[in-house]
Amino acid sequence: ESQTQELEEQRDALARSRRLLEDQSQALARESRYKSEFVANMSHELRTPLNALLIMSRLLAENRARTLTDEQVRWAQTIESSGQDLLTLINDILDLSKIEAGKLDIAAEPVAPKAVAQKMLRGFEMQARAKGLDLSTEVDPKATEIMTDPGRLEQVLRNFLSNAIKFTERGRVTLRVTPAPGGGVSFAVEDTGIGIDMAEQEAVFEAFRQADGTISRRFGGTGLGLSISRELADLLGGRITLKSEKGRGSTFALTLPKQLPGQPVASLPAALP
Ligand code: ADP
Repeated sequence: ESQTQELEEQRDALARSRRLLEDQSQALARESRYKSEFVANMSHELRTPLNALLIMSRLLAENRARTLTDEQVRWAQTIESSGQDLLTLINDILDLSKIEAGKLDIAAEPVAPKAVAQKMLRGFEMQARAKGLDLSTEVDPKATEIMTDPGRLEQVLRNFLSNAIKFTERGRVTLRVTPAPGGGVSFAVEDTGIGIDMAEQEAVFEAFRQADGTISRRFGGTGLGLSISRELADLLGGRITLKSEKGRGSTFALTLPKQLPGQPVASLPAALP
């Protein structure tokens, strides 16, 4: 008799703590949603005045009326480039919060790997040449068309390439495109740059993390690019791998599947009445 009573009490206590846990996890989910919404709204509100600031400082730096001294033009240029850095940071934070809130839209379309590689090459030619780096692409013809979001794919590759150029003083940056198992494609950016210590290789994917404080500060950047890239890779059903050796160089690779996950293989009507 008393044993059944004890058992019932225990069961009640368990049910109570379970309800408490459920309440708490719901509150947490709500809070994290509020946070993401707040960040999204704030980022948007910040961009409007910042855009005005960027346009005005650009006009000043152009000095069309020839009323500014050389020094004043340099000040205007500094305002513009700092504003540009701030805009990059705001856009990065907005992207991260959208991903967290599950609000980043992904739209798949047929993407030709070779065309993407050529577009990237064109986009970074000037930057590489300015540093005396040899930038090239190698595309395996067996890497065929995939269904993915080209904008998001390009965003990840731009991050890899700008890092590769930023952290390489001499040598080569190569974008290599190869087929991956199951009809997927792998995009690897290889550099002959400063490399990343084994112990830091996981940490560079964390938000705001930079491998080496002194070097990164010298090179600038937000430390958000790789964490966004990893989230984007997840959303695209792919993954990012890193191979690096301190002092020798790094290879960041994004491997994407043939199809975006959760998308119908063919566009058939979902159901007929
Ligand atoms: P950011 O480049 O803005 O600092 P990222 O998230 O893109 O932010 O990169 C995080 C850190 O990873 C960098 O600060 C740098 O320390 C390291 N890193 C990224 N790419 C490379 C590379 N190609 N070579 C060496 N270090 C790199």
